[in-house]
Amino acid sequence: MKQKRFILSESELPKQWYNIQADMPNKPLPPIHPATKQPLGVDDLAHIFPRECCVQELDQEHAFIDIPEEVQEKYRYYRSTPLVRAYALEEALGTPAHIYFKNESVNPLGSHKINSALPQCYYAKQEGTTNVTTETGAGQWGAALSYAASVFGLEAAVYQVKISMQQKPYRSSIMRTFGAAVTGSPSMSTRAGKDIITRDPRHPGSLGTAISEAVELATTTPNCKYTLGSVLNHVAIHQSIIGLEAEKQMEMAGEYPDTVIACFGGGSNFGGIAFPFMRHNIKDGKTTEFIAAEPESCPKLTRGEFRYDFGDEAGYTPLLPMFTLGHAFKPANIHAGGLRYHGAGMIVSQLIKDGLMHGVDIPQLETFEAGLLFARTEGIIPAPESSHAIAATIREALKCKETGEEKVILFNLSGHGLIDMTAYEQYLNGDLMNYKISDTDIQNTLQSVPKV
Ligand SMILES: *Cc1c(COP(=O)(O)O)cnc(C)c1O
Repeated sequence: MKQKRFILSESELPKQWYNIQADMPNKPLPPIHPATKQPLGVDDLAHIFPRECCVQELDQEHAFIDIPEEVQEKYRYYRSTPLVRAYALEEALGTPAHIYFKNESVNPLGSHKINSALPQCYYAKQEGTTNVTTETGAGQWGAALSYAASVFGLEAAVYQVKISMQQKPYRSSIMRTFGAAVTGSPSMSTRAGKDIITRDPRHPGSLGTAISEAVELATTTPNCKYTLGSVLNHVAIHQSIIGLEAEKQMEMAGEYPDTVIACFGGGSNFGGIAFPFMRHNIKDGKTTEFIAAEPESCPKLTRGEFRYDFGDEAGYTPLLPMFTLGHAFKPANIHAGGLRYHGAGMIVSQLIKDGLMHGVDIPQLETFEAGLLFARTEGIIPAPESSHAIAATIREALKCKETGEEKVILFNLSGHGLIDMTAYEQYLNGDLMNYKISDTDIQNTLQSVPKV
């Protein structure tokens, strides 16, 4: 069995990120203030986030943005990441499709999150910030941020979703090894946390509760900025490094993708691999299909509504225009912790409305079955999140088997699963199940969306 890898030399590494906002036929709607309903500007956001991130967030003009030299230097520790032709997986499926994956699991932190953690901490440091805070679900973002904070000499405080902390204990050890302070959310350390625990003492935590707590800490602590690992536009800009490299690597392979697939939590790894290729759909008439694979138990892309909703459970954040299940949505305890968020990013939400991409829902058991096949053929144990992308890829490859089409499919392997072995253990023991959510439940949680 063969495996073919494509790597870029140092001089071929991208020196700019791609900002799809500049090229979108319809721009994303602006975030708005919950009370005044006025669109927010850079100054409104800059008391929470590093200012440069706010500038990028609202930049609908510049398609390419320079990567600071210091960030490029840290990228070179692990980039480029390999683009791999998955011959063994193709063979196992008996498909005529050509399957490629971009391997974002090969950095010391094990997921794509580090691509945005580095610039966010770099900009925070440049502005004289001493502390950064954030939330983390499965723990990949918290781990990446803790590392990036230590690289640029910042103190990090991380709120980790309680249920994920119990399911994935090693991730908090990783964060603490890099010097971060880690607290399970909801906690009694913030007003938001206390309110949530008072209402529901057994709340398992969600990205929504953890965001509320981290935002509260950032806005009540001097010299402390909040950072976010997904959902927002500037995160998708930083992650474009994935697709920009993949574009060059596909060229080395002599192919261009017919289909690009990534798993979907808030949209950062999806946007990262997809947007540089989508640019050619918008500008050059290419017809690549873009598929975002979300969990059946958290189906905001396919069954949510396009509304202005809060990004967090307590309602502290600005209102964001997005496909949402309602900010009070409590996802089932699936093992893909990074995909348990109630809403989609603003860019992706607009792109779905405009028909430039679409979502697909994958049941939990199918994702693990796909993960196992991938591990046994390609030798990499994927993160449960990434297994959603693999499952969607397998579906497409099997369609090709029926039609005989030699489609070129590219998917993003967003991370490895070596710290998720409890999940694999449960799957192998037959202890996992699917969680399908009913229309009535969705209608109920949508009641939490404010009327704008
Ligand atoms: C966080 C995470 C995701 C989901 O987040 P996106 O912003 O949607 O990319 C997917 N895979 C891995 C490995 C993650 O850590």
